[in-house]
Amino acid sequence: MKRSAYRKSFIIRSSHKDVTMEQIQVMGVRGLPLIHEGDNIAAMICKTIPVQDGDILCIASTIYSKAKGFTKPLASIKPSERAERLAKLNGEDPRFVQAVLDASADIIMEHPFILSELSFGHIGVRAGVDQSNIEDGMLIFLPPDPMKAAAELQTEIRTLTAKNVGIIITDTCGRSFRRGQTGNAIGWSGFCAIRDFRGDTDLFGHILRITEEAVVDEIAGFANFVMGESNNGVPAVIFRNCPSWTGHDNLYFTTDEDITKHALKKEWHPERKEDKREQ
Ligand code: GDP
Ligand code: MN
Ligand code: MN
Repeated sequence: MKRSAYRKSFIIRSSHKDVTMEQIQVMGVRGLPLIHEGDNIAAMICKTIPVQDGDILCIASTIYSKAKGFTKPLASIKPSERAERLAKLNGEDPRFVQAVLDASADIIMEHPFILSELSFGHIGVRAGVDQSNIEDGMLIFLPPDPMKAAAELQTEIRTLTAKNVGIIITDTCGRSFRRGQTGNAIGWSGFCAIRDFRGDTDLFGHILRITEEAVVDEIAGFANFVMGESNNGVPAVIFRNCPSWTGHDNLYFTTDEDITKHALKKEWHPERKEDKREQ
């Protein structure tokens, strides 16, 4: 290949000239105490690391829920018959199962673990109810309206610091097809969830017809890596100097679009439950 031709074939024409990948900084917020009901986590985080305009602040749902009191003692929960049945089926504490049922808008799957749909659209194992990073015998529930939570945190931080930051509320989630949990965004504010590449052209001029990138989940995934899962004590992560993006907020499939949910629900249709119980 002649040098000139070689060069020509590698000219990059990008419509995303505004996206410059310059040294994105990722900072774990270390030094926060154990969070309790009534704590102002926005103020506590901003006191620990001063935020700047354009920062993306990821906050573990765990500390948001603890601060807002979305927690419950296991001992206060009375299991229903269904909870007793599912507890036996999955080898769990019936009171924990009742908490999961209470937190679920719909049950997608009953066994080998409960897969729940929450009222805000998220689908998660055991409705995202946690027993870790809280005192013995206590449960942590996901925030009931994480989008509102993210918007409120953004406003609180703007009031406190006069800085405009984006917020992502994260939770560690299991996933289909692959082993290993990753961080997911369950609430966000200050940007849209999805960067929409549809209609854009690739390096060869082909029009992209399908590609929508779930940016909030990608950022939540890396934040989750920085947080760790156990006793790291890093419940918030700041991303500085990220490129901006445009797109939309339809992160969750509609019921018609979600073929996985459809297949699982068919599998667990009440008429088939008897067979499953026998297993
Ligand atoms: P989840 O992914 O939202 O369920 O939260 P995790 O329980 O996995 O915790 C995420 C990170 O936050 C880990 O580094 C935990 O050690 C940390 N963490 C959880 N609760 C607290 C807390 O009350 N205070 C502090 N400083 N860190 C916490
Ligand atoms: Mn969790
Ligand atoms: Mn986690």
